[in-house]
Amino acid sequence: MPFVRRRLAAAMAALTLVVTGCAVTSPRPADVPGPADVPGSEKTATATGYDGAVSTVDPEASAAAIGVLRDGGNAVDAAVSAAATLGVTEPYSAGLGGGGYFVFYDAKTGQVGTIDGRETAPAAMPNDAFLDPATGKPYPFTPELVTSGISVGVPGTPATWKRALDRWGTLSLSEALNPAIEVATRGFAVDETFRQQTLDNKIRFEAFTSTSSLFLPGGEAPAVGSVFQNHDLAETYRLLAKEGMHGFYSGPLAAEMVTAVQSPPKSDTTTLPVPAGRMTVEDLAAYRALDQEPTRVDYRGLDVYGMAPSSSGGTTVGESLTILDPSNLSEMTVPGALHHYLEASALAFADRGKYLGDPAFVDVPATTLTDPLFGKERACQIDPLKAAAKPVPPGDVSGFDGACPAPAAAPADGKDTENISTTNLTVADKWGNVVEYTLTIEQTGGSGIVVPGRGFLLNNELTDFSTVYNPTDPNRIEPGKRPRSSMSPTIILKDGKPFLALGSPGGSTIITTVAQTILNRVDLGMSIADAIAAPRASQRNTAKVTAEPDFIAAYGTDLTPYGHEFTPSGDAFTSAAEIGAATAIEFGPDGLMTAAAEPTRRGGGAAMVVRPSK
Ligand code: GLU
Repeated sequence: MPFVRRRLAAAMAALTLVVTGCAVTSPRPADVPGPADVPGSEKTATATGYDGAVSTVDPEASAAAIGVLRDGGNAVDAAVSAAATLGVTEPYSAGLGGGGYFVFYDAKTGQVGTIDGRETAPAAMPNDAFLDPATGKPYPFTPELVTSGISVGVPGTPATWKRALDRWGTLSLSEALNPAIEVATRGFAVDETFRQQTLDNKIRFEAFTSTSSLFLPGGEAPAVGSVFQNHDLAETYRLLAKEGMHGFYSGPLAAEMVTAVQSPPKSDTTTLPVPAGRMTVEDLAAYRALDQEPTRVDYRGLDVYGMAPSSSGGTTVGESLTILDPSNLSEMTVPGALHHYLEASALAFADRGKYLGDPAFVDVPATTLTDPLFGKERACQIDPLKAAAKPVPPGDVSGFDGACPAPAAAPADGKDTENISTTNLTVADKWGNVVEYTLTIEQTGGSGIVVPGRGFLLNNELTDFSTVYNPTDPNRIEPGKRPRSSMSPTIILKDGKPFLALGSPGGSTIITTVAQTILNRVDLGMSIADAIAAPRASQRNTAKVTAEPDFIAAYGTDLTPYGHEFTPSGDAFTSAAEIGAATAIEFGPDGLMTAAAEPTRRGGGAAMVVRPSK
């Protein structure tokens, strides 16, 4: 019997508690198998071996992908199964109600292709959507604006799964959803991270009757070690399995999503304003996941492929690398190399703010931003001994020759308000295909709105638009537009073959996490496991560098003389002070794969391989 089905059969035989139509939590019976009971599927930060590999934040999702690979599925099939399983076990970060970006290396053709599954603003989205009509001023961002129907974009995740499977997969959507249906039905063991994320969102979840009944059963966050089942979501997945995209983008479910957005199922007790949204059934019916060409830059002889706009990930990671490329970081001291990384990142973020938006609406100079000559010219701004005053101005894309001094452009108009949630996964198969996929519902907990009886949260992705409309801001709110993302699923080739695939959640820190991990691996010579575990700092063109406390402890003293000032990561609304939760796979000789996940961030991730090396 195939791996996943075998596990389900054992689980279902053991599980006597059967409740339908809602989430159920109960202490986990000793004989209910979770992935930790399956050999090789424990939470492991690094796994090395052959015939396929996966890294996600969650052992259930990684086990689902390994099961698909063992059963003969390819990396795309396994990625969709893992993503759907994350919709069950990481419902506050990803799921049917969100969007994301899917990057695929096709071993047969040697080409990298991508799918833009970003959420989209409804056709009736007004440009003052985020202003409180009572005051004419923006709603406070968290928790007021993010907990709303107005922040909900038309979801892109189901269409992304379908498109990826149609374009590159071997399984049907119905087959790929099976592992997730199994996990949703038998339940998964609640861990510290899930409980803490529920507690962090308690006020928001209490604002909606549908959400509190699903995620706050009995009014409380589920206890660590209890089993969390989501029969509503299993049923919704079955609907998609049967009816395909029609089951989601039209028909009763589409109508229910529209109702949830236009008149959110608000509780009597909440004091949050919960502004209503404008999404319609026509918006849902019109949604399409888009095939996109990837971005590509050359970094020290490696081909780095990323996600083109509507994400700013590919161009901003790419530009950071092209700015760093002329400097020989491996011959510098570590603080010297980190100083260059922080400065390059500030410059790339200045350009991101000035030029990046949905290319269907604004003219994005993506080719220029990833041009090595432009990067060389931007590198003129880096003083090897002294941090520039921030914010640094954007570069002038209208004419560049790589020579110093370089002209500057007028500052950007928008302010970065992205939140930090999301999830990322990396999968490779025995044929050499590779998937890097970042998916999100934006904020941890998204809009806070569960579609009643359907088991999933709707996103608040539209808050990635600039909050206040400015006609010259490339990320201004416009109907039908995709808000600028920072998601940076990245695949790196060496001599035309996969060398490294990586990505991370973390809002706009995604870009710096991916760039810093590449620098750690390529320039500082760390193993991929150490490159992920290393403490992180994120300079997004602000006066102070946001950094994990461990980074400040390790490098603060050495970087302060350059003029860098630090502020510890974390905010008032989340308990975690960590930046990102990366996953990666590195490819070695003779088909060797090293899957790497976080050792501690987000409670640690789950790296697995199909056939472990001895
Ligand atoms: N909304 C963010 C983006 O699209 C992702 C949120 C996150 O990573 O937490 O870039």
